Amino acid sequence: MSDPVLSVSDLSKRYGETPAVDGVSFTVARNEIVGLLGPNGAGKTTTINMILGVLAPSAGRILIDGVDVARRRREALARTNFAAVYAPLPGNLTVYQNLRIFGLIYAVPALRQRIEVLLDQFGLRELRNMKCGVLSSGEQTRVALAKAMLNRPHLLLLDEPTASLDPSVAQEIRALIQEFARREAGGVLWTSHNMYEVAEVCDRVLFLSRGRILLEGDPRSLPRQHGRRSLEELFIALAREPLAPRVAGHA
Ligand code: ADP
Repeated sequence: MSDPVLSVSDLSKRYGETPAVDGVSFTVARNEIVGLLGPNGAGKTTTINMILGVLAPSAGRILIDGVDVARRRREALARTNFAAVYAPLPGNLTVYQNLRIFGLIYAVPALRQRIEVLLDQFGLRELRNMKCGVLSSGEQTRVALAKAMLNRPHLLLLDEPTASLDPSVAQEIRALIQEFARREAGGVLWTSHNMYEVAEVCDRVLFLSRGRILLEGDPRSLPRQHGRRSLEELFIALAREPLAPRVAGHA
């Protein structure tokens, strides 16, 4: 079996006395989509920011394709990319200009051809000369994903990629991400509050609460294993933990 795309060991982040992430360990394998779930304040964004090298961990280790983010940051991050609604692309630049500028930042070889491939893959050909600021939410998400694919990442971090999209556009976006996970050498770490989506897309989920992993498993079988009818029900029970300690089981 090949090395995981992402390997996180004993990762912690404290803000003063408060642990935001508290000894978290997990992996993402090649061609795997892993959902990072948990209520607001659970530590998801802090975890993602540490993987992206934006925040320094208080303790623990992060390997991307076996490369240590703390020691060989540039090399590790060259294999990574990211998309989130709260990090929109500059709205005064066109689709093409955005892809070109990010491509130059990432030093993508044969950039012109790479952009043409991505314009086709993400249905952006007609929009190439439109300013990103005037595009619909769904179109902006497609551009953000195309941008995230520029450097052919092995690890794709997606923070609520389908938030604010209508169900039909959200389904298109999910299909594009699934295609990436199936075809390329990469793995995906995905946060979402949409449990229907998570059950449909993720191969495995991690439930984070107060900075710790409470549960981990297949989103389709986990609810039944814990006496719940759906992932949404299980989520609500876990989010209310420690009021429902029996649901958290071994936590
Ligand atoms: P999530 O993304 O799951 O909603 P976060 O990672 O944003 O959770 O936050 C985890 C915890 O860390 C929260 O209790 C939050 O208030 C705290 N936190 C996040 N950033 C900071 C910061 N810069 N300073 C102090 N506390 C923070």
